[in-house]
Amino acid sequence: MFLAHLLNQAGIEAVVVERKDREYVEGRVRAGVLEQVTVDLMRRLSISGRLDEIGLVHTGTNLSLDGRMIHIDMASLTGGSTVTVYGQQEVMKDLFDAAEKRDVRVVWNASDVTIQDADSARPNLAWHGENGAERLECDFIVGCDGFHGVSRSAIPPRVQKTFERVYPFGWLGILADVPPVDHELIYANHERGFALASMRSPTRSRYYLQCGLDEELADWSDERFWDELAIRLGPDVAARLTRGPSFEKSIAPLRSFVSEPMRWGRLFLAGDAAHIVPPTGAKGMNLAVSDVTMLGEAFEEFYRSGSTSGIDGYSSRALARVWKAERFSWWFTSLTHRFPNMDGFDRRIQMAEIDYISGSAAAQRALAENYVGLPL
Ligand SMILES: Cc1cc2nc3c(=O)[nH]c(=O)nc-3n(C[C@H](O)[C@H](O)[C@H](O)COP(=O)(O)OP(=O)(O)OC[C@H]3O[C@@H](n4cnc5c(N)ncnc54)[C@H](O)[C@@H]3O)c2cc1C
Repeated sequence: MFLAHLLNQAGIEAVVVERKDREYVEGRVRAGVLEQVTVDLMRRLSISGRLDEIGLVHTGTNLSLDGRMIHIDMASLTGGSTVTVYGQQEVMKDLFDAAEKRDVRVVWNASDVTIQDADSARPNLAWHGENGAERLECDFIVGCDGFHGVSRSAIPPRVQKTFERVYPFGWLGILADVPPVDHELIYANHERGFALASMRSPTRSRYYLQCGLDEELADWSDERFWDELAIRLGPDVAARLTRGPSFEKSIAPLRSFVSEPMRWGRLFLAGDAAHIVPPTGAKGMNLAVSDVTMLGEAFEEFYRSGSTSGIDGYSSRALARVWKAERFSWWFTSLTHRFPNMDGFDRRIQMAEIDYISGSAAAQRALAENYVGLPL
């Protein structure tokens, strides 16, 4: 949707073909922390009205080690950069509302989408929609269809290289209409496992607990969740914790994944279709946005001047940023989680690294500049 708006703004015709309906996409609870590049793009596209009104700007974040809090003042460490808490569902609503007003065409409920002739001069997309079988010939196809979409598999295996790390744990997340325990996020490393205190608004909290991949949601009553969260956040933070009934509870597996290259012929991949990060560090949606920002520039250059240098360079330019975000998300996950095969030595190294961060401005700066998002 970001790319469709970018192209629309540049006078380039684009059609978004989506498998689900608008209600489903807007109801999907996912990301909530926006990097500055994402906020900047929303402003550039003039869709930031609600974001500017209700988004929560965070100048810092917190690490906690067995209850000891370490504050990372991101803004002062990075020369003023911040992150903004604003739900992905709200971003989608803003994109869809603006699409309706600006004639950005979205085809909803498109099933059996197939990509054909991606390596030819005239690729095309076929699907089943409300009017039966449909087909669209175009100059370029951009696969923004997530990790389970069809576009990545349209690239022949002989030209594709994939890299993957599956983590031996998941995140059990809840949403509850209670005030957040802190005005900033808390990434907690506790010997019982990781916990994250996050939020969506001053009255809506988002909390996560590291859990086993074999755990059942049914075994996690709200009471058990709150008790475990209180232990992992430590007594000082727990004393401020407001409990309440959850209205969303889910378990998400954690994975790092990259598929290279991000282009084959006239098919380009962007976002989760090409790469996945574990949610620690909140990079997934932001990476999708940075990919399409680069692609938007490349297409604009192509249609304005006929130059293919932007589209030819897209895959390597995008992957350079993707891999740095992969590294950061992997590192932050390794720093804060309890791994099943961890021995006393591993645990002491993890504790020493967090202690080092607490006393080193250089280490805090490295964390902060990755957390707020590297430049495009
Ligand atoms: C619990 C959770 C928390 C997260 N927290 C954060 C966070 O704090 N910060 C962050 O940056 N990221 C976060 N993420 C990751 C983020 O949500 C994703 O990285 C982001 O949505 C990727 O965007 P995308 O456009 O590539 O893919 P998606 O948002 O998945 O969009 C792909 C779209 O393609 C559609 N589609 C799929 N297959 C087809 C098909 N065959 N034909 C047509 N359409 C198809 C899908 O319905 C979907 O609408 C989180 C994810 C989860 C699950």
